Amino acid sequence: MSTCAIVGVNWGDEGKGRMVDYLAQQFDIVVRYQGGSNAGHTVINEHGKFALNLLPSGIFRPEVVNVLGNGVVIDLEHLCGEIAKLHESGIEVTPERLKISDRAIIVFPFHKDQDGLEEARLKDAKYGSTKRGIAPVYSDKYQKKGIQMGDLLFPDVLEKHLKLVLEWKNLMLSGMYGAKPYTYESIMDWLSNYGEKLKPYITDTGKLLADAQKSGKSILFEAQLGALRDIELGIYPFTSSSSPLAAYAPLGSGAPGVKVDEVVGVVKAYSSCVGEGPFVVEWFGDEAEKLREAGGEYGAATGRPRRVGPFDVVATRYGMRLQGTTSVALTKMDVLSYMDKIPVCTGYKVNGKTETDFPFTPLMDGAEPVIEYMPGWGVDISGVRDFEKLPKAAREYVEYIERVLECPVKYVSVGPDREALMIR
Ligand code: GDP
Repeated sequence: MSTCAIVGVNWGDEGKGRMVDYLAQQFDIVVRYQGGSNAGHTVINEHGKFALNLLPSGIFRPEVVNVLGNGVVIDLEHLCGEIAKLHESGIEVTPERLKISDRAIIVFPFHKDQDGLEEARLKDAKYGSTKRGIAPVYSDKYQKKGIQMGDLLFPDVLEKHLKLVLEWKNLMLSGMYGAKPYTYESIMDWLSNYGEKLKPYITDTGKLLADAQKSGKSILFEAQLGALRDIELGIYPFTSSSSPLAAYAPLGSGAPGVKVDEVVGVVKAYSSCVGEGPFVVEWFGDEAEKLREAGGEYGAATGRPRRVGPFDVVATRYGMRLQGTTSVALTKMDVLSYMDKIPVCTGYKVNGKTETDFPFTPLMDGAEPVIEYMPGWGVDISGVRDFEKLPKAAREYVEYIERVLECPVKYVSVGPDREALMIR
């Protein structure tokens, strides 16, 4: 596999980070192609435990070149913070190991303000934004009012663009929300604190990837969030503002002509969802609390408790179709060990009819899950490293998932550590 994408099939937080950390050893280049600092990958390895929001998870492998593509939006302050944190753990993020696209758009402090102000204005109708400025910055990009990373290398261009953008943004902040406007000087201060440090990393990543492919190098594309959060085909408007689909990987990396050979879809053995939007399998009360505790389901970027529920065949099959998944990595199997029987949702009852195809978003309001049960295995499986040594019920659960998703489950993980992974 010379190109491979690792993508989320569900609502995000499936455990993509650990899969990239594992697979990165087989690739020369790891690319993040969408999103910003609004979600996090958790990686646990010999260096410690890290929540990465922006840096590609290949950053722990010294021989890997890591790329932040043009589809990513970059909060410079946040990225400098991540680089500094790794430095404290003895990992140096040098310009040889991290390449930032000159076309990636910058997330400014005013984007984060705007995000928070809009959520506050919406009150109960809020989208559940992480308030990292993502929706405002992507809207600015499409309004052609974004500042690209490459602008930092051309002070005259930067000054001209920034003054125009700031004038417009201040009208919105003060006029619409009654907030304090930003001065040009304060933004330039922020840029000289953080932008200056990142200048050596900025390059034409499209050319870098095209050249790399020509010379036979292998590329791993790393997504953030999951298929159901896709701006085009997800649970709009409760989506992210970017496309976490494998189909977007070449474009968001700067190399739209590159074909993705393999798509590893990361699927969690149960369901979790952060923020608002339809989540038909949602559990509440003690049942939810038990699963949330067992799975440590608290957001990596925000610490928010995640909504949880049983495995959702309907939503996962839809996510598989959106991703064009060629193999599945099934994560967090160990978390289900406490259950006597394993619930799975095989359909949605919508207006008295059972649907097995994922419905249009508003139709899911008031939908009820149809639940079936598989036998539980009742023992701790976190130490098992050989699929054949899993209890029969656990193997049957994996085989069931393989059948309903119509795709081979190639990886099964039973713990967060690098080696808690079985390859079939
Ligand atoms: P990502 O955004 O898809 O990378 O997902 P997150 O990192 O936000 O969430 C995955 C969480 O589950 C992290 O805390 C991982 O360390 C953890 N994790 C990943 N795989 C497993 C597993 O097989 N078992 C357990 N118990 N935890 C896992």
